[in-house]
Amino acid sequence: MTTAVGERTLEILKSANALMEGHFILTSGRHSRQYWQCIRALEYPEFAEELGCMIADLFSDDEVDVVVAPALGGIVIGYEVARALGARSMFAERVDGDMTLRRGFKVAPGERVLIVEDVVTTGGSVREVAALVREAGGEVAGFGFIMDRSGGEADLDGPARALHTATMESFEASECPLCAAGETEAVKPGSRK
Ligand SMILES: [Zn+2]
Repeated sequence: MTTAVGERTLEILKSANALMEGHFILTSGRHSRQYWQCIRALEYPEFAEELGCMIADLFSDDEVDVVVAPALGGIVIGYEVARALGARSMFAERVDGDMTLRRGFKVAPGERVLIVEDVVTTGGSVREVAALVREAGGEVAGFGFIMDRSGGEADLDGPARALHTATMESFEASECPLCAAGETEAVKPGSRK
């Protein structure tokens, strides 16, 4: 998929050095030479604002009342999307492993909620946020992302839209050419430095 929005998103991510090169273990367990650390783009408030506006545009007809983002990765981009939509902004966080709305954040019954995250990989966190929203009586208007890195694996129950869909070469660990070369050890990038 190459759209103007997708192109601009790539341009932003590259200029923020969000594309890491090395030897990585992806969430799926597969190995890869590249890893998108999308949150790097949010280091730059002007990029965060622009990405937030672009995601908001994907949901401009959806009458969103509240944006809920899973902590920590979703907080900044969720806030920017909420600002662009004129919606409220809150985040869900894990307490003893369970995704929870704390700090007095509440979704009222009937409110339309957009769930925003920087990157979707397996979709686990945003599915849990959706369950929370529905428990509170809210309606899930959709799921918005900077990047879809799921390779079609995130099975989300609602409209899911991303600014860019990553197509990245990856290998089964047993067939990884980088492992075979033996010069580097695969690392899980996640939240590491
Ligand atoms: Zn490898």
